[in-house]
Amino acid sequence: MSSVRQALTQAKSQLAYTSASPDLDAGVLLQYCLGRNSAWLMAHGNAPLPAQAGYRFRSCVARRRAGEPVAYIIGRKEFWSLNLLMSPAVLIPRPETEHLVEHALEKIPPSAARQILELGTGSGAVALAMAKERPRCQVTATDISPAILRLAAKNAERLEARNVQFTLSDWFAALSGQTFDIIVSNPPYVADDNPCLRETSLAFEPVQALRAGPEGLNALSSIAANARCHLRQSGWLLVEHGHDQQLEVASMLKTNGFGDIICHVDYAGQPRVTACRTASCSR
Ligand code: GLN
Repeated sequence: MSSVRQALTQAKSQLAYTSASPDLDAGVLLQYCLGRNSAWLMAHGNAPLPAQAGYRFRSCVARRRAGEPVAYIIGRKEFWSLNLLMSPAVLIPRPETEHLVEHALEKIPPSAARQILELGTGSGAVALAMAKERPRCQVTATDISPAILRLAAKNAERLEARNVQFTLSDWFAALSGQTFDIIVSNPPYVADDNPCLRETSLAFEPVQALRAGPEGLNALSSIAANARCHLRQSGWLLVEHGHDQQLEVASMLKTNGFGDIICHVDYAGQPRVTACRTASCSR
């Protein structure tokens, strides 16, 4: 029977060619299989690895070697310090999406009671981060899939976020007549023919959360075209987009009557989140 340390060392070398973070991945997968935290692993390197846990660990490492993201294997992902349940039906929240949350929160004073809308919530990551940071605000989070909304609602329940409500909607379709102070979205924005969709770990993620037409702009343009009449006076719209979509996004927002258009960069210094504002709805 191998020790905890031996199993970890072996897994790290097996993952070296697949993963950009083999040490971290091996550690997280072993913690998951043992039901222990990283401190326990460090302190018990010489402990024998129980057969059952060893079997599970080898099968998790094999899945990771085949390219499956850790978040789907363990069914969890940290986002904005929230521990979220994951399933392969939802996009894994990325660190860069924390910029969307951060810039949206900048628009809301800590004690303000605003109405927030998130379009295409997936696991609920953005809506829940905002709801927890601004407990006096009311957050509406939409998705097109009932199963996905059930997962998001489960996350809300586990995090005791009582100021979020989930609505089944294809973008704004079910929100007729409703207005908000802030609208946020991380919609699909990858071009249909982008080889990343097949050749990277994106292949494990739901295509409807990623692909958005020939230039990846279909969802963004639908949001830009319809957001204005769901925003209250001086309300903000913030969207995440591809690093090379900044100009197209700014132009479609301008065409649809938005002003104060500002693009923010992500951790890698790439254009990633655009914020804009409307004075009033002219319709
Ligand atoms: N940021 C994701 C990626 O390229 C795409 C997410 C999205 O389309 N919303 O990996």
